[in-house]
Amino acid sequence: MKDRFGAPKASNFPLPLSSLSRPGERRAASAPARVATPQTATQNAARTAVQAPYVPAATGAAPSKSHSQALQRAQPQAPAAPRPDLMVSEAIRRAMVARVAKQGVQDPLVLAALVRVPRHLFIEPALSAQAYIDASLPIGHQQTISQPYIVARMIEVMRNGGALGRVLEIGTGCGYQAAVLACVAQEVFSIERIKPLHELAKSNLRPLRIANLRLHYGDGMLGLPQVAPFDGIILAAAGLEVPRALLEQLAIGGRLVAPVGAQVQHLQLITRSGKAEWTSETLEGCHFVPLRAGTV
Ligand code: SAH
Repeated sequence: MKDRFGAPKASNFPLPLSSLSRPGERRAASAPARVATPQTATQNAARTAVQAPYVPAATGAAPSKSHSQALQRAQPQAPAAPRPDLMVSEAIRRAMVARVAKQGVQDPLVLAALVRVPRHLFIEPALSAQAYIDASLPIGHQQTISQPYIVARMIEVMRNGGALGRVLEIGTGCGYQAAVLACVAQEVFSIERIKPLHELAKSNLRPLRIANLRLHYGDGMLGLPQVAPFDGIILAAAGLEVPRALLEQLAIGGRLVAPVGAQVQHLQLITRSGKAEWTSETLEGCHFVPLRAGTV
């Protein structure tokens, strides 16, 4: 089965995702950034906020409210005739995806997933004009939404062109990568350790009604033994090493992709090759927020 972007369809969202746009959204400035840190995220936000200020919709969506609330308020007042500003987001998203492809991501299923998921719905309204620049942005609690390139790259490496059944993400954050994963895997589980972010992700994801995605509040370093094994595991936060529990929860043949390191970090790909056998490969440099134990 193919979706309308010509890529094989791994899962169905009940809504055409491109139909979800927020009134007042604008074309984002293009300012690629290759690392994702809370610091650069804040700088990204400040720099482009000047170039492309978000103009609040007539409904006055307050930045502090959840995106889904803003969406619900905005919809009844939207005019019946299609407005050009409601239709630009898919075009802008395609331009973002073209830039991600130019940086080297080739997996058509991953690129199609990036086109389908409306990233602006995962970013607070004050920053949504910057949703389609290839940069990390702050989401509160000193955390960030990852740069689209790195989201795509990690999923591409994990998938390796094969079919993905059950996948685990550590570090839900605002829920963006989880939504992208849900387009390419049969079943996705995502864990977040910061309660308000877990709640934020729930409210961001609710309007998308993604049936094959489950969010968990907890310490992702422990994984989810009750639903293991996983064909793929992605860590969205960097530790000094990959937690043993996660290695144990990989299916044989399964692939785990994680940023590893402190100041200097690299993506690491770990493949489980046997019951007590793993192989590891160090890939490109990256910069993620730290992986931390426990919950808050
Ligand atoms: N996946 C996100 C990126 C979120 S940033 C996206 O789509 O953009 C990384 C997230 O990992 C933060 O929200 C942080 O709180 C979380 N995190 C760090 N250590 C964790 C742990 N042990 N368990 C679960 N989440 C963790």
